[in-house]
Order: sequence, then C-alpha cells, then structure tokens
Amino acid sequence: MTEAKQIAGPPATLVEPIDMSQLDSNFRDEIRSMPNGEELAACFACSTCTAACPIANQWKYKPHQLIRMILLGMRSEVLNSKEIWECLTCFQCQERCPQKVRITDILFDCKNLAADEGKVPEKILALAKELIDKGQLYVVTADWEREDLGLQPAVPGLSTDGIKQILRETRTGKLAGGGT
Ligand code: SF4
Ligand code: SF4
Repeated sequence: MTEAKQIAGPPATLVEPIDMSQLDSNFRDEIRSMPNGEELAACFACSTCTAACPIANQWKYKPHQLIRMILLGMRSEVLNSKEIWECLTCFQCQERCPQKVRITDILFDCKNLAADEGKVPEKILALAKELIDKGQLYVVTADWEREDLGLQPAVPGLSTDGIKQILRETRTGKLAGGGT
C-alpha cells in the first residue's frame, strides 16, 4: 500500500490572524517621514518585488508582505523579523517596483529602527565585532593557498585605527561594544 501524500497547506502567513490591538499606526508614518519612505503608500501589492527577490522563497514574510505589514502598522513583527537582516541588498525588488517604492532602502530604515531598540541578531553583532577588531569581515586565504592561486603570498596587515574612529560614531560600533 502506498502512503497517502501529505497535501501542503497554505503558507503560515496566510492563516495567522492579525492582532489589531497590537498595530502601531505611527509606524507607517515614521517610515514614510524618512527620506526613503515617500512612495511607501503607493504600493498596490502587486508582488513584483517578491517575484524579483532571490531569497524570498526562504522567508516567512516576503518583501511585498513586509511592505504591507509596515502600512498596517505591524511594527513589532517587522522590527523583530529575521528577514530585514537577511536581505541581500541586491536592489532587485526596488529596481522593478512599478510604484517606485524604495523597498531595499526601507528595509535599511527598519534595520536602523531595530538597532535603536537593541534588536540586532547575534550573528550580525559578531560580524561587526570582527570588523572593529580586525578591519575585515572574512579570513584572508592562507599563504600556501594564495601561492597555489598565483597570488602574492603576503597580505599586508590592516590598520584598524581609521575603522575604529568611524565606528565610534555609529550604532554598529556602540552595539558591538567597539570603536573605543
Ligand atoms: S513591487 Fe512595489 S507596488 Fe508591487 S508589491 Fe512590491 S512594493 Fe508594492
Ligand atoms: S534587496 Fe533584499 S528584499 Fe530586495 S530583492 Fe534583494 S534580497 Fe530581496
């Protein structure tokens, strides 16, 4: 006997009710008042942004849903979402939006608001700390590998003084406890 195939239900986001009492009507205006938010209210939910996004199929909240959530005032859900931090900053959504909504930049604004509230994922803080401490985000390829690739073996060390000076004035530096 063959096992009955499980029929997939609709995505969770389509069946989860929205708690109207938790909506923050100021959130939309807050985003709209920022330099990137001018066209926010022009969104007509066409989902072109989601169709263009290379990572949306991994996300619970797709780009067009995030924009709708901002318009509805779902501040907590948006600022606590992992999606705003996982955006690849590829601008595919923003380039294609027929209404000129600055989706990528709005996600940046959301990240800044989240950071103001101390809601930065640990892995992002770890990267920021790496940048502060070493002046780079990635480990430089080992000398023997560089030689195999025909590259100069010695990579000059980086001075982190300039980076620390910049980060001292930024949220990133303060949140990561660096830049001092
Ligand atoms: S492409 Fe633009 S108008 Fe369409 S859903 Fe996305 S943000 Fe809204
Ligand atoms: S910028 Fe972010 S949200 Fe827009 S398409 Fe790229 S990954 Fe998706």
